[in-house]
Amino acid sequence: MALQVVSPRIRGFIATNAHPDGCALNVRRQVEVARSLRGTSERYRNVLVIGSSTGYGLATLLSAAFGLDANVLGVCFERESTEDRTGSAGWYNLAEAHRLAREESRLVRTINGDAFSHAVKQQAVEALRAGFGPLDLVVYSLAAPRRQDADGDTVWNSVLKPIGAPYTGKTIDLRNDAVVETTIEAATDEEIEATVRVMGGEDWAAWLHTLADAGLLAPGCRTVAYSYIGPEVTYPIYRSGTIGRAKEHLEASAEALTTMLKDRCEGAAWVSINKAVVTQASAAIPAVALYMSIAFKLMKERGTHEGAIEQIVRLFREHLNLEAPLLDEEGRIRIDDWEMQPDLQAEIAAIWDTITTDTLTEVSDYAGYKRDFEQLFGFSVPGIDYAAPTEVHRLLD
Ligand code: NAD
Repeated sequence: MALQVVSPRIRGFIATNAHPDGCALNVRRQVEVARSLRGTSERYRNVLVIGSSTGYGLATLLSAAFGLDANVLGVCFERESTEDRTGSAGWYNLAEAHRLAREESRLVRTINGDAFSHAVKQQAVEALRAGFGPLDLVVYSLAAPRRQDADGDTVWNSVLKPIGAPYTGKTIDLRNDAVVETTIEAATDEEIEATVRVMGGEDWAAWLHTLADAGLLAPGCRTVAYSYIGPEVTYPIYRSGTIGRAKEHLEASAEALTTMLKDRCEGAAWVSINKAVVTQASAAIPAVALYMSIAFKLMKERGTHEGAIEQIVRLFREHLNLEAPLLDEEGRIRIDDWEMQPDLQAEIAAIWDTITTDTLTEVSDYAGYKRDFEQLFGFSVPGIDYAAPTEVHRLLD
């Protein structure tokens, strides 16, 4: 037994601990939403989710397992708990997902390790052969800060920087809740290249080639990777910046993957453009927290606000459960459609121009943003007694 009172250790967009019961309750809430998919499709028997422990990947795992009754293998990179140290939020999320799956006799397994490595790809192949069988769906939801070359010593670090010229613009300083102006220098060519290596489509393709060569893609197997476009106010730092360059590479990879999959298993690859939601990855992007705070207030007022689980349930219901998903003119799935409505974006842009620290809580849902952020780590979750000691050592099986 390792009972501890767990208090948040959060500074800015970094949290160094997590509350196991808060994470577990978050997962159970998401599972309830996922269950609304039941009976909608039997298309997916075996599903692989790469990046399965938090954010969009966790929502995908829960939707597939508890909504679509699929067997799910997940891959993630999380810190295990020990007798005297808390695990990461993703670790606790999966501990609860495994517990619920066991209770309901569902097959959910996890490989915790570096998805970029040959060793983890091989472990996945072995786990699929031993306990699953060929895959009907592979979802790539990795958000990583770095990648170690699987064939050498090179380590690529992704950066969040503009391309061509420095960016000066508004952002929130999460440490003191202030709207401040920040300047970020333009990326070097090496930084652009490194970000594409980490967040582009190279590793997505490597996974699919490994699985195809291992005979683990079922006839008609589909694969989806998640991407983001967002509004003009974040273009310099997001879509036109280093991460946007990586996303363009990811999106272009879908075409080559479709050609390969068509040939190997009559399959197809798509990118799904998702809405901005609060995750560990998105919290690190300058300007995006401020944008989300404004957008969330307006979307809540309109009744169109969604979190990751609502987005993924809609992705299955309106796209992946169909014979063929609905695509935009560039061949992408768009579940950012409600976020990108032109009149909503015009309202956001007007608020963006005038928002200051003084008006932050009035014209945006910064309180909601912060709560969502704390909840990622199991804190500020209604119904949890944070004064009570809890077992911090949780196991995945
Ligand atoms: P997240 O930080 O919540 O999740 C990242 C996942 O990747 C975790 O499961 C983590 O364990 C895993 N991971 C990281 N490095 C790994 C490694 N080396 N090996 C194995 N697993 C590793 O991020 P998220 O926001 O859910 O992002 C997932 C995808 O969705 C990304 O491609 C992101 O760009 C995209 N997306 C996010 C948003 C958003 O607003 N959050 C919007 C649209 C698209």
